Amino acid sequence: MAEAPPEEELLKAVSQWIGPSRRGASPVLQSPRIVRSQIVECSIVRSVETRTERERTEHGSVDLSSRPRYEGPIGDHPVDPPGNPATERRLTLVLRDSEREAVCACDDGRIQCPRCLGRGRHDCAPTAVCADCLGVESCTACGDAGKRRRERGRPSSARPASGAASERITCATCGGREAACAGCRGRGVTPCAECAGKGSVGCEHCDGSGLVAHPACGGKGRTTSWTEGTVRHTPGSEKLSLPVKRAPYPVRRRMERDGDWHSAVLTGFREPPDEVASEHRPGIERLLVRRKGEVARRVDLRSLPLARVEVMTQPDRVFYVFPGRERTEVVWLPSRRRVSRLTTMAVGVATVLVLVVSLLR
Ligand SMILES: [Zn+2]
Ligand SMILES: [Zn+2]
Ligand SMILES: [Zn+2]
Ligand SMILES: [Zn+2]
Ligand SMILES: [Zn+2]
Repeated sequence: MAEAPPEEELLKAVSQWIGPSRRGASPVLQSPRIVRSQIVECSIVRSVETRTERERTEHGSVDLSSRPRYEGPIGDHPVDPPGNPATERRLTLVLRDSEREAVCACDDGRIQCPRCLGRGRHDCAPTAVCADCLGVESCTACGDAGKRRRERGRPSSARPASGAASERITCATCGGREAACAGCRGRGVTPCAECAGKGSVGCEHCDGSGLVAHPACGGKGRTTSWTEGTVRHTPGSEKLSLPVKRAPYPVRRRMERDGDWHSAVLTGFREPPDEVASEHRPGIERLLVRRKGEVARRVDLRSLPLARVEVMTQPDRVFYVFPGRERTEVVWLPSRRRVSRLTTMAVGVATVLVLVVSLLR
């Protein structure tokens, strides 16, 4: 495991990075400001177990002989936690001696059709209003059908189509020549297309048999009931990076690539390992609290010490130093002083440009 480098080593790495000063000697790192921290990344995968019990009823005879059994409360049944907490698992069991088969009260899986009440047919009007004359002035000679229909409240706007009215044939009722509608021969109605004038149609719901499958037994005539216990293992994961205020991205990228991280895989329910710095322990402890129903876990934890170093001879830079796999690594970033100076310069340049442009106008 990489220990936090002592101050001497930190400063040596920084001064090596800076190189010799113009005066020849190695630069004097006067009153350096060093802020040390530890980067900790922790992820946990938990397996949470839930147990439920319910009554089941299935249609027909169900063969339950291959299913595992349990006795007493499902919560007491011994089930091993999953070897890998990331696996999702579901185990269904049958309570011993709870299985029973019942013959249904229906007639071997059939009941009377609820739509036709067992008749197998539905009533249907044997005739329909004539589509050509709409029953209005079906015959200009006798006209009975037409008048009666109009009196029954047919809207007066329901006029026959002009083309249909023009072609008239001999009336089948009164024998009047060229008086009757060609579509209905003066009757005002035509035989119903649905029942072909029979006055009833077969029931589609039961195909005319008057019987349908009983929904309660699915047409099987019997049901099987039992008590089912279920044990579920559901994985869930969480991550935590500390400190919450993270190092700047270029530093993180270099730490990822070159850092001599200390990594550990923890199983079982334990305290955070000793290498976790005291300021991070409460956060890691909260993450690792055992959850309700948690039966297995895998914790991946890694840590790396990091030092932020400022030296008086390099006011424009901030150095980040951490142990690498081969040597102590140094990354520098512009200091706030340098950033603000560059911003001021940029604003100055912009101001000059504005002045120049306005003078040229
Ligand atoms: Zn039934
Ligand atoms: Zn029916
Ligand atoms: Zn009909
Ligand atoms: Zn007529
Ligand atoms: Zn007609």
